[in-house]
Amino acid sequence: MDDKIKEAARILSGAKNIVGFTGAGMSAESGIPPFRGEGGIWNKYDPHSLDIEYYYRHTQESWNIIREVFYSYFNSAILKPNPGHKILAKWEKEGRLSCVITQNIDDLHGVAGNKHIHEFHGNMSRFVCSKCGEKFPATGIPLTETPPHCLKCGGLLKPDFIFFGEAIPEEAYYGSVHAAENCDAFVIIGTSGQVSPANMIPGLAKRRGAKIIEINLEPSTYTNNISDIYLQGKSGEILPQIDALMER
Ligand code: NAD
Repeated sequence: MDDKIKEAARILSGAKNIVGFTGAGMSAESGIPPFRGEGGIWNKYDPHSLDIEYYYRHTQESWNIIREVFYSYFNSAILKPNPGHKILAKWEKEGRLSCVITQNIDDLHGVAGNKHIHEFHGNMSRFVCSKCGEKFPATGIPLTETPPHCLKCGGLLKPDFIFFGEAIPEEAYYGSVHAAENCDAFVIIGTSGQVSPANMIPGLAKRRGAKIIEINLEPSTYTNNISDIYLQGKSGEILPQIDALMER
């Protein structure tokens, strides 16, 4: 393992353009559970509440679950970036990392300090009006009465993340494709690779010749497929270890 971490540090030290690609495992050490599998929130709640058609037909019922899961249970006021998030922010500041492509909706890369983030599935820290498209910080909208309404036009608000049945935001999609096709090192962190179409992004980097470094507790769909280096373990521990060995 030590040799593989050294090799990852060597590759990333020499890279001109690193891209990070993150999933739920990136935020596990910040206390956010996965959606699926053991301890996953969909064992407790029915995911149909996040189906876009269901949301418009049964808005009050959906909001009861949304409020409990995303705005109480994942209380954003107590969520903090973990050491892994901080390393990606440091690499961006140093000019090594051009962007993070994230499937997470928790805003922790932004809180850690990354500026260039492609939010493939949106971001729960904003609400968007389903009528006029205006966006609002979630902290500015009281959830004492749900569903909440737009401060501008009175339309129905929804969290600004992708519900089942919604398209990937165009800017995030094309921005991610461009970033993956133009990097020389691509770091896959804490994602099982099972969610489409996000899971096709790493392959684009591989095809253009980027070195693929993967960090995950368990092998993913990428591990024996496109990963050049697989580092098994927690991202909040492995990223600082790589960083400590990088040349500056
Ligand atoms: P996933 O749940 O399918 O897979 C998570 C992966 O992370 C697993 O492969 C697991 O082995 C790994 N992992 C767990 N803890 C880890 C750690 N400490 N360090 C490194 N790896 C670790 O997640 P996914 O691939 O991101 O797909 C789930 C979808 O659900 C995503 O599209 C995302 O939008 C959403 N989601 C978001 C959040 C969030 O915003 N924090 C949380 C859960 C799910």
